[in-house]
Amino acid sequence: MAAKPSWAGKYGNGSGSFHMVWRTPAGDLRDVTPKALPFQQILFVPDVKHAYTGQQINNVRQSLTDDARVHQFIGLANRVFDITNAGDLATFHGQLPSNVAREVMTLELEKARLFDAIMRSEPSRNDLCRCGSGKKYKRCHRP
Ligand SMILES: [Zn+2]
Repeated sequence: MAAKPSWAGKYGNGSGSFHMVWRTPAGDLRDVTPKALPFQQILFVPDVKHAYTGQQINNVRQSLTDDARVHQFIGLANRVFDITNAGDLATFHGQLPSNVAREVMTLELEKARLFDAIMRSEPSRNDLCRCGSGKKYKRCHRP
């Protein structure tokens, strides 16, 4: 089953991604998708327009700040999706061909550099606070 969570805030963008959800024999739903980053909150919104058919579905990413680096980060994440799902790779599950893996590594290093720079800089006054409170920075942790 596919479910699209949406979350906001901590890293300066809102993102919806498709997660693998397991229905237990008792009927409970458990998110079993590995996550690269810890999230304080994930809101799941069932998406009846999408069903998993063996092809990865790109995440929905939206910047909640006017920081150009966040827009660049989102562009790089979409680029990684595009090159890892191009042509026959759309239905391929396994180790990427070395030329694709090299390009992905380059993009991931650039994403990591941007992420680090964004997290080390002070947010704009009207950006959501990175603590995840949902409040604007100026009304939360701004000194
Ligand atoms: Zn805060």
